[in-house]
Amino acid sequence: MILVTGGAGFIGANFVLDWLERSDEAIINLDVLTYAGNLENLKTLEGDKRHVFVQGDIGNSDLLIHLLKDYRPRAILNFAAESHVDRSIHGPEDFIQTNIVGTFRLLEASRDYWSRLKENEKQQFRFLHVSTDEVYGSLAKDEMPFTETHRYEPNSPYSASKAASDHLVRAYHHTYGLPVLTTNCSNNYGPYQFPEKLIPLMIVNALAGKSLPVYGDGQQIRDWLYVKDHCSAIRRVLEDGIPGQIYNIGGWNEKPNIEIVETICSLLDTFRPREGHSYRNLIKYVADRPGHDRRYAIDASKIERELGWRPAETFETGISKTVQWYLDNAAWVTHVQSGAYRHWVEKNYKER
Ligand code: NAD
Repeated sequence: MILVTGGAGFIGANFVLDWLERSDEAIINLDVLTYAGNLENLKTLEGDKRHVFVQGDIGNSDLLIHLLKDYRPRAILNFAAESHVDRSIHGPEDFIQTNIVGTFRLLEASRDYWSRLKENEKQQFRFLHVSTDEVYGSLAKDEMPFTETHRYEPNSPYSASKAASDHLVRAYHHTYGLPVLTTNCSNNYGPYQFPEKLIPLMIVNALAGKSLPVYGDGQQIRDWLYVKDHCSAIRRVLEDGIPGQIYNIGGWNEKPNIEIVETICSLLDTFRPREGHSYRNLIKYVADRPGHDRRYAIDASKIERELGWRPAETFETGISKTVQWYLDNAAWVTHVQSGAYRHWVEKNYKER
């Protein structure tokens, strides 16, 4: 059994679904269900005994101690976080609480649990911390992509809180010997992403005929990875990663934001044409985000070389699947936008 935190969010839910598609090893899924946590993402697992959902906070030490004692997982994978940069700019407090204090509490409970395991279980146990490339800061156009030894230079409250959590994870290995693994991944996209992030926001706005807001000059560069490729990388790191090591994960797909938006418009022009209009006409440049990082790029050679991981999707195949997924799952989008997914959670989860 493994314990996943934040498994009702975008990447966590994709991971849980992917894991249970490939393995019969059960998952305890601990998620407090913030606005970003959506049990509708896991609807296909209803009645599946391999998935145990627990609504709770990674900052709740008593709950963590009980869960670990009762379920005795062989690994803990920490996806739980406040994850949206814009929200961190307007209100950093939750980011400090969950990303720093929450990770600290999870580490403490894990350390206590791990120290009581039998020697062979202790050897096998892993704490895998899911983090971001944003901790490395912003790159100039001509700088080399981030390697695992790149200096930490976080620029937003979000990335600073993730950087702090990465340092705590590192320190728990160095000081206490806890077998930790850290992954720093580039921007993800794919099914079940909350429509506040660039790609789903653009798809959903375009379909509703609303404007497509592009920050600043649209030339900010991000490195993109299809979410299922992130999940396969995490599985590889969990299986064969060396405790104490960091693995950067990315798909060598650097793209300026405006190119992403234009690609989405072209796909929609093909999949769902609007008579006489291209979706491009909806693009609208808006004031830039304060402190907006110019460029992120991941050097993924370590995980490719040492663990033989490769992404299955190119950007072209991944973005096409993603646009199609949002077209095929209009009800999911409507529920998220109207807040109805919260009622769905209450009805389908609380009554159980
Ligand atoms: P998300 O915001 O979609 O999901 C986060 C999940 O964590 C939600 O289900 C939420 O309810 C849960 N959560 C929040 N606070 C919690 C708490 N205190 N206790 C328990 N659960 C809590 O985020 P995501 O995009 O799926 O990101 C998952 C992880 O991957 C994060 O750690 C993020 O930093 C990292 N990451 C994200 C990206 C990306 O592009 N989205 C890229 C690299 C790394």
